[in-house]
Amino acid sequence: MPHLMNTYGRLPVAFTHGQGCRMFDEQGKSYLDALAGIAVNTLGHNHPRLVKALSEQVGRLMHVSNVYRITQAEAASDRLAAISRMDEVFFCNSGCEANEAAIKLARMYGHQQGIEQPAIIVMEQAFHGRTLATLSATGNRKVQAGFEPLVSGFVRVPFDDLAAIEQVAARNPNVVAVLFEPIQGEGGIHIAHQDFMRELRQICDRKNWLFMVDEVQCGIGRTGAWFAHQHAGIVPDVMTLAKGLGSGVPIGACLATGRAAGVFKPGNHGSTFGGNPLACVAALTTLEVIEADGLTARATTLGEAIRGGLRADLSGVAGFVEVRGDGLMIGVELDRPCGDLVKRALAAGLLINVTAEKVVRLLPPLVMSDAEGAELVAMLVPLIKEFLAA
Ligand SMILES: *Cc1c(COP(=O)(O)O)cnc(C)c1O
Repeated sequence: MPHLMNTYGRLPVAFTHGQGCRMFDEQGKSYLDALAGIAVNTLGHNHPRLVKALSEQVGRLMHVSNVYRITQAEAASDRLAAISRMDEVFFCNSGCEANEAAIKLARMYGHQQGIEQPAIIVMEQAFHGRTLATLSATGNRKVQAGFEPLVSGFVRVPFDDLAAIEQVAARNPNVVAVLFEPIQGEGGIHIAHQDFMRELRQICDRKNWLFMVDEVQCGIGRTGAWFAHQHAGIVPDVMTLAKGLGSGVPIGACLATGRAAGVFKPGNHGSTFGGNPLACVAALTTLEVIEADGLTARATTLGEAIRGGLRADLSGVAGFVEVRGDGLMIGVELDRPCGDLVKRALAAGLLINVTAEKVVRLLPPLVMSDAEGAELVAMLVPLIKEFLAA
């Protein structure tokens, strides 16, 4: 038995390597990767441009402290600022760290306004991470159970529900920010309406609240825009990123603009590894390849093809509820818990995931081809039909 702490229910497979959207296990069996390490491997596996850029950087400089200038971090921040139309970037190493930075920023912003007990509005079924503050912000009792006392200062409302937010606005003078995922990932692929985002933007402006989006899963081109909130034509005050940003190299980021810019001063926040040259080269190269190869547009067209294919083949099947999503962030909801499908798919050579118990989740690399997309549908449909018929 390996000495790993028992924190995951792991599937009995170990991969040795990957190529594009394929992965290979120790027996040489090949799998179609429709999960991308949960929205991480944006460019698939072994992407030649990423491998080249990283190899060169490994031989040059991997880590340098943030007590010095880091030109790769400066370049990555410029690129992120340009595509988000935001002003400042703090680099860290993961999604929960990016959200920790956002939560700290919102609290400090509140204190600067004279609010001593700042509160942040968060959503039901949200997922923001596993650190104490982010699991307290998460809207899932299973994530929180056993870790009480939770971090206070969060007010929870139903997702995508403007009236609920108006009610909190009317009675709670301590609110300083709203934090939500434009598309909830772990919660089961739930999409916030564009009107909700636009009207929430107005409420935040009226109330001087920070509009904070967690795009750790839905960001980085996956929904056919650089960031999912951009479909609503708004700019947030704070945005958090991680997962797909480095195509597999750990990196997270907390972006700020408008009244959220300039809140942190030297000494308020930091990270030893955050913004190191290796991770920033990974992020820069990921963003460059997405742009050069038109991968946001790919996400749109391929996502439509996959959802259309699934809908055509599954509609009318007893137990199938619906297909939803945007771009290459796709959920297939069934009427019953379907975690077993993950194992069945694995046996068939397909990597998928199930979240919120009843939702098959697909998060393929953005480099997936049309043929691989069709193959994904052709593999998944019979698996779901057999599962529902059993
Ligand atoms: C995965 C995820 C996180 C947490 O990211 P980690 O890198 O695991 O800390 C936070 N928010 C969302 C929306 C996520 O999907």
